[in-house]
Amino acid sequence: MAAGEETIALPADTLSVTLLATAAPADVLSLGVRDPGRVLVDPTAPEGSLNRVLRGQGLVTGVIPSSTAALPLASSLAITAVKLASASSEPVTVSAWVKRAEAGRVPAVQELPLAVLFVGPPPPGFDVALGELGRIWRAAGIEVREPVRLPVDGPTRVAVDPALGSDSPAVGAVLRLSEQAPPGTLALVVVQDLGLAGGELGLWALAGGIPVPPRAGTARSGVVVGARLLARDPIWGGQIIAHEIGHALGLYHTTEGPLVNGALHDQIDDTADCPAAADRDGDATLSASECDGHDAANLMFWGTPRGATRLTVGQAAMARRSALVR
Ligand SMILES: [Zn+2]
Repeated sequence: MAAGEETIALPADTLSVTLLATAAPADVLSLGVRDPGRVLVDPTAPEGSLNRVLRGQGLVTGVIPSSTAALPLASSLAITAVKLASASSEPVTVSAWVKRAEAGRVPAVQELPLAVLFVGPPPPGFDVALGELGRIWRAAGIEVREPVRLPVDGPTRVAVDPALGSDSPAVGAVLRLSEQAPPGTLALVVVQDLGLAGGELGLWALAGGIPVPPRAGTARSGVVVGARLLARDPIWGGQIIAHEIGHALGLYHTTEGPLVNGALHDQIDDTADCPAAADRDGDATLSASECDGHDAANLMFWGTPRGATRLTVGQAAMARRSALVR
C-alpha cells in the first residue's frame, strides 16, 4: 500500500532533503524517491538503493543525499512512502525538510545545537566525553556548542531488542522524551544503563535513525547513551557518542561488520572500503584489526574501536548538509 506520490520542487540552492514517514507502530515502512532522471531510493529495496534508506517500524527516515551518486540534486523529487508489511489501516504521513544554503554551497562551518536530557544523575566524566565529541566534530567543520542540560523523568534502564535495534519500543519510548528539549536541538538522552534485552552485553549509545529527523518527540528523535559505560572510559564514550551523532547527521558505516554477499560500504566516494578479502580468520565478520590500513580508524567504522575518530572531507561535507546543523 502506498501513499500518493508527491513531487516537491527543489530550489537551486538546496543542500539536502530530509524525509520522515509515520504510520502505526506495527507498520514496516519504506520510502521511494525519484528525480526526473533516475530512481534514488527504490521503496521495495531501500537498503540497496543508489541513495540508501533503512526501512523502519512505525516510522522511517531518509536523507537525500547520503550518497555521492545522488549529487548534484535535480530540480524536483517525487516522494512516496510505502508499507512493506501492512498491519494497520492507518494512513502514512510524510514530512519533508528542505535545507538550503547560499548558492547551494555546503558551508565550511555549521553548528550543532545539542540538548542533554539526564534521566538520573549525570555520570562522572560526562564533560570529558563532551569535550572529545566536540573535538572530533570540530575537525569536520561542525561546532558542538555548550549544550542545554535538563533533568527528565524516565526509565533508568533501556533494553534494546537485538532483532529490532533502533526500532525497539524501549528506545522509542526514551527518545520521545526529546519533546522536552528546546526546539531545534538534537536530544542526547542519558540513561543509567543501555543494554541488549536478555543479555549482559552493555551498549554505549544508539542513534534513533539514519538520519535523526529534525523534529522532537518522535521515537527516532535523538541519541540514547548509557551512563554506566560512559563513566568507565569517558574519552572512548565521547568517541562513541560522536559516532552516533554521525548516524544522526545521516552517515552510514564506512564498512559493516558482517559479510553478507560480500562487504557492505557507505556510499561516500572518498571513504576507504575494507574488502571482504580482509577477513583473514574467516569468521564472516570484518574486525577492526582486519581493517587496519583500510577504514578502521574512521569514526564511522562499524565497531567504533577506541581511537577511531577520523572523518573524510566527503563525510564532513555530507554531515554539514544535515537539517540538524545550521
Ligand atoms: Zn554505528
